[in-house]
Amino acid sequence: MLRLPRISGRRTSAWSVSVWRSVIDRTAASSQRGGMSEDIEPLKVCRMCLKHRKLIRAHIVPKGFYKPIMSKKGVVILSPTEKNFEQPTQSGIFDKNILCAECDARLGKLDEYGLSIFGKAPGKADLIEGRLLPGYDLHCKDVPKAQKFLLSVLWRASISEHSFFYITDLGEKYEEKIRLLLLCEEPVREEDFEFTVTRLEGSPLAGAFMPPFAARTPEGINCYRLFLPFFSFMVRMDRRPFPPLLKLIRFTAASTPQCIKLNYAGSVEEKIFSKVTNDTLKRAYSECP
Ligand SMILES: [Zn+2]
Repeated sequence: MLRLPRISGRRTSAWSVSVWRSVIDRTAASSQRGGMSEDIEPLKVCRMCLKHRKLIRAHIVPKGFYKPIMSKKGVVILSPTEKNFEQPTQSGIFDKNILCAECDARLGKLDEYGLSIFGKAPGKADLIEGRLLPGYDLHCKDVPKAQKFLLSVLWRASISEHSFFYITDLGEKYEEKIRLLLLCEEPVREEDFEFTVTRLEGSPLAGAFMPPFAARTPEGINCYRLFLPFFSFMVRMDRRPFPPLLKLIRFTAASTPQCIKLNYAGSVEEKIFSKVTNDTLKRAYSECP
């Protein structure tokens, strides 16, 4: 069995995990407040087209990702800060200061595809064994589009001023590189970005949202860790390529499986989040009405 290298978390030492539950009853009230304020919002610069436009409530993680994990108790959100960030609504965290309607709709096409690939947990029928590592077939026929979707979520998290994403900062160079990529029809080039997709089994974090954060491989390659309810991702943000072991499991059209399956126990996620997160989650669930 291949043993994957541990990826150290960078800028994670300050994590002080708190858990927020969005309460459905509050959603209507906060939506109404948002709707009223939009009418008097002045024109602002859209971060994608760079034009002065009326900006809309743009989701950082597409709304559809919240649906499968919504319950009457709300979505569990792991935050790296104790700050009182804006309460997430039933439809998730959004930012009113980043995108115009046209650009949001452009990203919406990627979101639709991303949701079709990553929006549900893989089943037993998708399991592929007998390889270097067991994993799942994601049935992803358009990998460049799925890769662009992942970059678009990272980009939105990075440019967002929402306090939930304050540790997500790709830097101006990568923000601009991704912005230009999202505006054109060119596919993601392997020399620019590489990806891994992991399904963590037995994770107490399943169904929880957390912001993307920077990490480094043991070889010093800079990456970003991105989390969606059913999968975690690693995206290379470095001019140097993935090290050999990660090359073997990266997410490409030719990969079989496209998503590797790992046990939460022993994973880097466990290392980063284990004790404090588990304790916090237990407290949060025990407090659920
Ligand atoms: Zn725009």
